[in-house]
Amino acid sequence: MIIAADWVVPVDGPPIRNGAVRVEGRAIAEVGPAGEAADERFDGAVILPGLVNAHTHLEYAAMGGFGDGMAFGPWIEDHIRRKAATGAGDSLEQARAGAAACLRAGVTTIADCSYSGAVADAAAEAGLRAIVYLEGFSDWPDLRARTEARLDAATATELVQPGVSPHAPFTVTLDDYRILVGLARERGVPIATHLLESARETMHLEEFGDILGPDTVAIHVVYADPADIELMAGRDIPGVHCPRSNALLGCGIAPLPELLEAGVRMGLGTDSPSSAIDFDMWAEMRAAIMHARARLGRADALGEAFHITSDEVLTWDGVYRAIGRAAGREPQLIHVPSDLIAALYPERGGSLLGDKAWSVVFDNGKIKRFVPEFQTRVRFAEGMARSVAWFDADPARRAVSATANAMIERVIAAQRRALEG
Ligand SMILES: [Zn+2]
Repeated sequence: MIIAADWVVPVDGPPIRNGAVRVEGRAIAEVGPAGEAADERFDGAVILPGLVNAHTHLEYAAMGGFGDGMAFGPWIEDHIRRKAATGAGDSLEQARAGAAACLRAGVTTIADCSYSGAVADAAAEAGLRAIVYLEGFSDWPDLRARTEARLDAATATELVQPGVSPHAPFTVTLDDYRILVGLARERGVPIATHLLESARETMHLEEFGDILGPDTVAIHVVYADPADIELMAGRDIPGVHCPRSNALLGCGIAPLPELLEAGVRMGLGTDSPSSAIDFDMWAEMRAAIMHARARLGRADALGEAFHITSDEVLTWDGVYRAIGRAAGREPQLIHVPSDLIAALYPERGGSLLGDKAWSVVFDNGKIKRFVPEFQTRVRFAEGMARSVAWFDADPARRAVSATANAMIERVIAAQRRALEG
């Protein structure tokens, strides 16, 4: 099936005006300019990959505005009392509403911290891809046994995976952190916890010892100081940024540009409507940029684009020969002027004419200005060999595009006619 729209945004390449996506079964087989053959066309629309909301609480979907204006301390105490008083049926109804709101906002994957566990059922019903971290609190009797029983009973499907979330350092002791994180590691399930969210937390990441690692997602990190950032980068501890929730609760603004520059893997999340109003990732993206710029007083904070290549100077002929060699063939190179391609395929002409009108050398100067220790370790020929091996590993990856082949043959034929005529 082919679906087409005014724009397709593939993310790993520039946006395609009048683009199309070919779907085979449950997989995207091809992305490119729209031909005549679209089965369905969406005018005035953009097709883009589903968004990932890296921190949600779907089961508070109906709590938008509750506690607005309260400081974080009384707000969270009120909120915890409220969630403890909400019955399982009400949690499931809210989680269903939250799942529907996520899908409406273009979110197809969530990482949710769930008090009741109902989010797993709601996500499975809605077809959302989800990690549902089951929350744990130190004032729960038999915390370990209770968490094990909850994990055993949790809904798990091809798309929905349970995890564990020690709630936060002000509700979970370090000993209980060790128990819950240890249990999750024994079972190989993912872990997330609210960390350094408000000024109420005085414990910095170093005090967690070996509890934190690449498998523990640190949500919020508003109060991450330079030592915390260094520790996150050094131990590859991932983080989640929730700018609207942090702003509305008066918690502050997380040092996102510094975290990114240090190389910390950061996701973006809305948190729950109880603090952040809704599950709108577009509003969250805008907030992330605006807050970073306001905080640093720099209009160029975030939103930088980087071109990253290997540290080699390659000609286009060199590039194509290396690709051919990786595939075990010596290519026959035919040089075609960009103008000819643009005349035959105007929708492809724009970028070709702009990009290849002059000789250019791509280099890594900009990324090295931002990240001085940046190095490339894989040479282009080696990267191509790995790519070919990836395609060879599974016949399903080796789809031949009849459309692309026909386009190239047409260009070559036109070029030959031009040379002969
Ligand atoms: Zn949260």
